[in-house]
Amino acid sequence: MQNMELSCRCGQVKGRMLNVGPQGGTRLVCYCDDCQAFARQLSREDVLDAYGGTEIYQIAPCQLQINEGEAQIRSLKLSDKGLIRWYCGCCNTPIGNTVSGALPLVGVIHSFIRSEQDLGQQLGPVRGYVHGRYALLTPPAGKEGRGTPWRLLMRIFLRLLIAKLTGKGQPNPLFDPDGKPVIEPKVVKP
Ligand SMILES: [Zn+2]
Ligand SMILES: [Zn+2]
Repeated sequence: MQNMELSCRCGQVKGRMLNVGPQGGTRLVCYCDDCQAFARQLSREDVLDAYGGTEIYQIAPCQLQINEGEAQIRSLKLSDKGLIRWYCGCCNTPIGNTVSGALPLVGVIHSFIRSEQDLGQQLGPVRGYVHGRYALLTPPAGKEGRGTPWRLLMRIFLRLLIAKLTGKGQPNPLFDPDGKPVIEPKVVKP
């Protein structure tokens, strides 16, 4: 288990992911249209892969630290009931996604991981590809993201349950202890 350095593109927001590795979180690629819309909303399509996929590493909130530039943290939702999507106001670097303050899960987007670090080496293999029907082109074999990836869903659910039972939802740099976002998300309908 090791730590990874986090930074936005311009370097004003900095942080760290703690105890990462193949067992420290869940690496996945999401092709969904909302993740694509989020990147477009920020004019950061460079975050998407060739098929419109967003690479995410899911961790518990206590594994995420923001050490510098907290005042630049922004959040938005693409619909009233959508995920809360976090980014840096300074340079529109996507930080990650959360469901709510009650669910101890943060999907950190690769754009916030400092780029000189090797994701494959430090985080292990991608565990699954999801929402392939929204992919922009046909992804290569094994990365189509079709159907329901039950093993991945079970893994995410179990990790969530363990995080809840072991109090890994706090400390949380994105929500206060009452589950309120540190900055109220604005609703942006694309
Ligand atoms: Zn920045
Ligand atoms: Zn998505």
